[in-house]
Amino acid sequence: MDELLASTSAPPHIVRGACPHDCPDTCALLTTVQDGIAIRVQGNPGHVPTAGVLCNKVAHYAERTHHQHRVLQPLKRVGPKGAGRFEPVSWDAALADIASRLSAIAARDPQAILPYSYCGTMGLVQGESIAARFFHKVGASLLDRTICASAGAEALTQTLGGKVGMKVEFFAESKLILIWGSNSIASNLHFWRLAQEAKRNGAKLVCIDPRRSETAEKCHEHVQLLPGTDAALALALMHELVVNDWLDHDYIAQHTLGWEALRERALRWPPERAAAVCGIPAQQVRDLAHAYGTTRPAAIRLNYGMQRVRGGGNAVRAVACLPALTGAWRHRAGGLLLSSSGFFPADKATLQRPDLLAGRKARTINMVTIGDDLLRPASPGFGPAIEAVVVYNSNPVAVAPESGQVVRGFARDDLFTVVLEHFRTDTADYADYVLPATTQLEHWDIHASYGHTDVLLNRPAIAPLGESRTNTQVFRELAARMGFTEPCFGDSDEALCRQAFGSHVDYDLLLRQGFASLDIPDAPYANGGFPSPSGRCEFFSERLARQGMDGLPDHLPNYEPAGSSTRYPLAMISPPARNFLNSTFVNVESLRDIEGEPLLELHADDAAARGIRDAQAVRVFNDRGEYFCKARVSSRARPGVVHGLGIWWRKLGLAGTNVNELTSQRLTDLGRAPTFYDCLVEVRPA
Ligand code: SF4
Repeated sequence: MDELLASTSAPPHIVRGACPHDCPDTCALLTTVQDGIAIRVQGNPGHVPTAGVLCNKVAHYAERTHHQHRVLQPLKRVGPKGAGRFEPVSWDAALADIASRLSAIAARDPQAILPYSYCGTMGLVQGESIAARFFHKVGASLLDRTICASAGAEALTQTLGGKVGMKVEFFAESKLILIWGSNSIASNLHFWRLAQEAKRNGAKLVCIDPRRSETAEKCHEHVQLLPGTDAALALALMHELVVNDWLDHDYIAQHTLGWEALRERALRWPPERAAAVCGIPAQQVRDLAHAYGTTRPAAIRLNYGMQRVRGGGNAVRAVACLPALTGAWRHRAGGLLLSSSGFFPADKATLQRPDLLAGRKARTINMVTIGDDLLRPASPGFGPAIEAVVVYNSNPVAVAPESGQVVRGFARDDLFTVVLEHFRTDTADYADYVLPATTQLEHWDIHASYGHTDVLLNRPAIAPLGESRTNTQVFRELAARMGFTEPCFGDSDEALCRQAFGSHVDYDLLLRQGFASLDIPDAPYANGGFPSPSGRCEFFSERLARQGMDGLPDHLPNYEPAGSSTRYPLAMISPPARNFLNSTFVNVESLRDIEGEPLLELHADDAAARGIRDAQAVRVFNDRGEYFCKARVSSRARPGVVHGLGIWWRKLGLAGTNVNELTSQRLTDLGRAPTFYDCLVEVRPA
């Protein structure tokens, strides 16, 4: 970049934007541009929640954008699927062929077409606007977008009424913070800044996590429980709150539902019972309950790691009940935050136009089970076999569970696959067409957040590189070629940005400043008023009971509990490597150099029992597949639990594998979500 700067003369200018990645922080960006090149991406110091600081990943966004391996023209497959052999083709030829193939399939049954997308961008415009309109008009299968957060989201909705919680800035004033299922230093950096401020002001920080993460080792205490046992711990905390009467009886009476039933359930969970399930000392449970029951204000920062197990929804429900028991919500620095996204009044019906289905009932495919579903034949229960997949903002061959099965699905010769991408990812290698997509520096977008309560506008900093096009433009052009004449396909990206929040947000302020805050009270539930049907925190959920489920939260053991198998005695979780964000950034050399190689962290006792040395190549396996990586003998792991850090691209890993060879397609109790951290394995030297 410095060379580029030296050889140019135009004065640089700065463009305001927003980080597009799947991260709660949604940072405000300032991109410095010179002669059409983004030479630097920095945080915007004027944006209070993110304070001008970016994580190391996005600090490298200019390198990623101008990367030599960007896909900059449409590509057509010329080799076998998966080989990654393509030749350049014109946009005209590519779009004409894609429109013709999709039209032919739609004429037989439009549900044989499947869009596959997730949060490769969190932008509401390049995410699901024109794309959703297009697939609704086609009558394609709907996609259940569940791969990350839907168990926790459903749990919050059944408990509090929505994805809402305390305002993140007030964690700085808390006196006790439970950081539950989160390596905040790696994946929620700006919250960690606030937790540090609280710590300097005398707060106690407790990390609850199976892994001794970077965050855990910087907290005062680490509760290193077994994967999938969080609900047991939460129920035992409730037990202690009850027997010691560390309860806010007035708050419970005024603002909760189902107290007597929950009380009875909690009394079945003395600390000794939970300690045996969680694999931690009973005294640690008692001490944690004492701290939580007697410290004001006390706050919980929950994150999505702990809900990636069979009972993940129930676990989130159990934890989400705690602040109402102690009345923690009364304080602006008390309560809980998993997601703030439910505060944002995004007008998704206008952006996505489900009315274009025009009364047709399209089936829904769960993105977690894409491996099985791509291989499923037509049947009365399933409907037509999937004949075409259009992938955008996602890399399912790397990130979907049980990837051996996913690969078999995408390798089908009779499957027509289109991938909109920046790079030739693992999924792009299976495409019939790869279409070059713009990055966040090259398009308009607008963003909500799930970690703070500001809306951010993203302006394009540079022109689209090469022949790349925005997602919206690609779907507009496909719509035109397929004869869709509704005026909504003509909406410009800026018009879509305006539509996203309508009059709820001051768009002129967004244009001037780049961000605008929602008007949320400092302590939104100090006097109850939860967005649930009863307006209360629902310990007992009538809605779940009506569906035949337990109306109260409970501990549901993992499908594959730690220690339950002699063939596969190790429980594996797959938390993100610090310098990657899901599978994004794995191909950015400066970040991959820091991560080094795909790693499995394991405890010294487990390594010694298998004759495994540090840095040795190992084979990790179960009945679903095998994964090759390097062993890291590490005090971050407890005995019996290993950590397969993710998510490497298969082709950049060892032997063309990644950790998702081992994970299963089974779903959580609530929210139809994946169970990535509910996975038993064995490890041997390779
Ligand atoms: S990934 Fe998260 S912390 Fe990093 S720049 Fe984006 S929003 Fe900020």
